[in-house]
Amino acid sequence: MKLFKCQSCGQVLYFENTRCERCGHLLGYLPPRDRMAALEPAKDDTWEPLLKDAGAVRFCANAALNACNWLVPADGVDRFCLACRHNHTIPDLGAADNMSRWQRLEAAKRRLFYSLLKLGLPLVTRADDPVHGLAFDFLADQPQASGPKVLTGHDNGMITIALAEADDAEREQRRAKMGEPYRTLLGHFRHEVGHHFWDVLVRDAGLLAECRAVFGDDTQDYDAALQRHYANGSPPGWQHGFVSAYATAHPWEDFAETWAHYLHIVDTLEMGAAFGLRVAPVVTTDDSLDVALDFDPYRTEAWDTIIDAWLPLTFAVNSLNRSMGQPDLYPFVLGPQVIAKLGFIHALVHGQVQRAVADAA
Ligand SMILES: [Zn+2]
Ligand SMILES: [Zn+2]
Repeated sequence: MKLFKCQSCGQVLYFENTRCERCGHLLGYLPPRDRMAALEPAKDDTWEPLLKDAGAVRFCANAALNACNWLVPADGVDRFCLACRHNHTIPDLGAADNMSRWQRLEAAKRRLFYSLLKLGLPLVTRADDPVHGLAFDFLADQPQASGPKVLTGHDNGMITIALAEADDAEREQRRAKMGEPYRTLLGHFRHEVGHHFWDVLVRDAGLLAECRAVFGDDTQDYDAALQRHYANGSPPGWQHGFVSAYATAHPWEDFAETWAHYLHIVDTLEMGAAFGLRVAPVVTTDDSLDVALDFDPYRTEAWDTIIDAWLPLTFAVNSLNRSMGQPDLYPFVLGPQVIAKLGFIHALVHGQVQRAVADAA
């Protein structure tokens, strides 16, 4: 994520802002320009961005529910923005707490789509492809406590996110019960969409052999593998080969976990670069921990540039968190095997795997 600026007064803005705190302009995110736009009222429910040649815009229909701040062209047919048109089911907003929880899911979803759009990944809605298109079911548990709980997961482009995960106490309880160092809404979105892009970029693109060479044989029975994982836990020493304990359950989970981390890394580095961060620890002359975030991680083709910046940055930010008595921002250790898996995701996202296969043919 980067920093934005109000075109009217220069105030620095967050991605979630809906009104400039300094000059009062309404704000919306304009995906094709990758800008937060300050808006002047135009006719009816349309707005004129204070951006050259942007054209008149309307808010996404979910803005009326305080669930979106993205814009669509005023002359277009889409009522929903590039992120919200992938919604398939939203919870009953009349039920207690559902509105605020859904709004939190939507905020995380927009950050997911920011990254997917930045990486230029293919985004196909369910309307355009009813079988494999990307869609979201945001589901609340049934009111009776004994009933089955909604399970977060992915099935052929359809991503289910349990609304209960938007309740901080509930999510923290689940995190502790599963022994996870990290559990967030954004993390759920990044993980589940990793399964979708395995379908699109690996299976449907004919790259199963290349992916199996890195993540292992995914033909092993998935349900049995998950049952085994929940019964026995992860093998000792898993940290050498996997980014998380859950990634050991099955190669599909390994791919999705690694994919999520790739998005964590690239997006956090972009924010570091937006602040002009530099890391150079003063206690050592060893310059392997020196880095200046002076590149765009979403566009950088060289994986080494990204990972060489990530390790010093996390060392620094984890140390800042510890000074505040907080858990590490990035509570993971990335060994060489895990870095190679992340490198495969990077190469896949940038079309490098695809080009290498085409060149070899
Ligand atoms: Zn302003
Ligand atoms: Zn929207």
